[in-house]
Amino acid sequence: MDEKLTAFDRQHIWHPYTSMTAPLPVYEAESASGVRIRLRDGRELIDGMSSWWAAIHGYSHPALIAAVRAQAEKMAHVMFGGLTHEPAVELCRLLLELAPAGLDKIFLCDSGSVAVEVAMKMALQFQQARGLAEKCRFLTVRGGYHGDTFHAMSVCDPVTGMHSLFSRVLPQQFFAPRPQCRFGADWQPEDIAELAALLAQHQHEIAAVIIEPIVQGAGGMWFYHPQYLRELRQLCGQFDVLLIFDEIATGFGRTGKMFAAEHAGVSPDILCLGKALTGGVMTLAATLCTDRVARAISEGRPGLFMHGPTFMGNPLACAAAAASIQLLRQGGWQTQVRAIERQLREELEPARRLASVADVRTLGAIGVIEMRQPVNMAALQEFFVTQGVWIRPFGRLIYLMPPYIIAEADLTRLCAAAVRAAQR
Ligand SMILES: *Cc1c(COP(=O)(O)O)cnc(C)c1O
Repeated sequence: MDEKLTAFDRQHIWHPYTSMTAPLPVYEAESASGVRIRLRDGRELIDGMSSWWAAIHGYSHPALIAAVRAQAEKMAHVMFGGLTHEPAVELCRLLLELAPAGLDKIFLCDSGSVAVEVAMKMALQFQQARGLAEKCRFLTVRGGYHGDTFHAMSVCDPVTGMHSLFSRVLPQQFFAPRPQCRFGADWQPEDIAELAALLAQHQHEIAAVIIEPIVQGAGGMWFYHPQYLRELRQLCGQFDVLLIFDEIATGFGRTGKMFAAEHAGVSPDILCLGKALTGGVMTLAATLCTDRVARAISEGRPGLFMHGPTFMGNPLACAAAAASIQLLRQGGWQTQVRAIERQLREELEPARRLASVADVRTLGAIGVIEMRQPVNMAALQEFFVTQGVWIRPFGRLIYLMPPYIIAEADLTRLCAAAVRAAQR
């Protein structure tokens, strides 16, 4: 490894959730293609993370690289205020064809957290426009993760999130228990009783419910029963509250459906997308809403939706996203995700017998080993690198979400390394 480079990095560059005085080790990635990340020192790692849900087609996919290159030669960026362009229009046309029924308007933004801020602002402006300004709080479930900006933080899990650190400035929201009924288990109607009671009691203060459908991601990698979402959809209608689905992690096939909402067959009023949107090539996110929401905002005061990022609708990112969706439209992902699911289920199963393991669960191209104790992330990271795999555990979770294109033998190496790590 180039020691000068990593030394400079340690001295001067923040990484996600790190200290500047006791930084965790970082490895220098030099290139990546397919499911392999190549380090500067020549080692090759099989990627089990898809770079946090994003690189669903693997790295350096020729179709994505070609789309970005062609667009870069024409126009890397222009402001979206007063101008539009083909990559944005093409992407939005593809998104509307794919999205759950009823979603009709799209706001393009730069990252998942911003897509969540935009969704929450839409809900607030919607209620204000209808003369219901007192409906200005949000209801969510525990165990969620919606991003790191302020309003997004306010609906993250209050215990594992950053509530205590920022409690003086965070808006106070309502929290129902985490859905308990597992995906694939029998539905228990009492699972949603507390949420229903909170809605009934506070409907006049609540603008929207925000939730990650089916899979709670960074808040605990938990898979819950689709009936929860059907009942939630009904309750939101009954109590005149908007429903926001945060599909930033689950969108674009990861759970075995194009969107996790399809497991339940329900549509939200507002939908957040990000992560895999560009196939992991560029940063881009989107917030979709129904015509009803857009109309109320636009016909209320000030008659505008009050958000507008500088790099809104960046043509390079839109071109990458359109190319990624075209790849998905070819349809091979369904077979790939089904095969990954089957293999994860089989090959992570041995971990269940370990005394150190609390639970093993899989859904789509997501496999999770939940430990009884928090893992030592730095030590495990190093262990995985020596095993030739890239797996980044957090909290009590060792989990896999490989690119959909992964070959059977490579996935076997990921599963074996994960099970071995759980034994340590
Ligand atoms: C990652 C994530 C976000 C935040 O997205 P960023 O691009 O990191 O800002 C929000 N919601 C969910 C469900 C996520 O998984």
